[in-house]
Amino acid sequence: MTDTTKGRVGFIGLGTMGREMARNLIEAGHALTVYDVDASAIAGLVGQGASAAGSVGEAAADVNIVITMLPDTPHVEEVVRGSGGLLQTIPRGGLFVDMSTISADATRRLAADLASAGIAMLDAPVSGGPLGARNAALSIMVGGEDEAVARAHPYLEAMGTTISHVGIAGAGQTVKLCNQLVCGVNLQAICEALALGRACGVDLDQMRNVLLGGSASSWMLDKLGPAMIAGDASAGFRIDLMLKDLRLVLEMAQSQAVPLPATSLVTTQYLDARAHGEGSNGNQALFKVYDRMSGQRSGAVLDVAP
Ligand code: NAD
Repeated sequence: MTDTTKGRVGFIGLGTMGREMARNLIEAGHALTVYDVDASAIAGLVGQGASAAGSVGEAAADVNIVITMLPDTPHVEEVVRGSGGLLQTIPRGGLFVDMSTISADATRRLAADLASAGIAMLDAPVSGGPLGARNAALSIMVGGEDEAVARAHPYLEAMGTTISHVGIAGAGQTVKLCNQLVCGVNLQAICEALALGRACGVDLDQMRNVLLGGSASSWMLDKLGPAMIAGDASAGFRIDLMLKDLRLVLEMAQSQAVPLPATSLVTTQYLDARAHGEGSNGNQALFKVYDRMSGQRSGAVLDVAP
């Protein structure tokens, strides 16, 4: 008997996150056709059972759902609106889910234009990083119509453990950007505490353990604290991606006339980090800014990636 819960998926964008999410869809029994501008990324997924597409249109042909996991708004705009893009190639009645982190405004415009062509769109950005992607443990924030969410659910379940339908088109991106605001400002607070504790001569590992046991506990302190204290800048969510997200946060805030002083300040500090060559380091490299400001160098000083 055919398993009707399994479907055909076109997956576009096979980078740090997308390749893991695509692999989890394959492991869940879905048939994947994959596309990326980087041919080696396609080859990696073909080695794991996917079919290769030579274009966006080929990835969108004869599938139940098209998923994108692309860097930023212009990339998604190009894949949807460009020549041979999804607006032209997904048939009426089709379903498109963008899991990238992009502008909420642009998302609403894309969803409206796709709806005019009879194509349902969901925004479904994720939190959880490469590890969450690898372990199919992402938190997925979904914006769009109920019916489309129900259709997408079996596919989203293959990639994440928490699937939250938070509103209409653009709401997923809005919630994700608020998530990034909290992560950025929280990391800044952790940097300040570590810089002060270090200057006062306390044991930073012990201080982190104490903070984790009380009301200052956070995901950032738990997951990134050890790397900050040990001076490991290499892995994790890149400074460049955080700066992209904070730009989107501040654009959204400006369009709503909402002042975000803490987000503005930490954005300046991330820009400082990037100007000093740390753009491709994990965002725990924000601590390097505090090393410079405080004139301190310790075991917590982070190496700058080439
Ligand atoms: P990435 O840069 O590693 O991967 C993006 C992929 O898209 C690349 O393989 C690139 O070749 C491909 N691509 C770019 N333009 C394309 C086009 N026009 N057509 C087809 N393919 C194209 O990025 P990532 O780290 O996988 O992040 C993807 C998205 O997920 C971003 O919006 C990011 O903010 C978000 N995100 C990332 C993380 C993380 O920890 N890396 C966590 C949560 C959310």
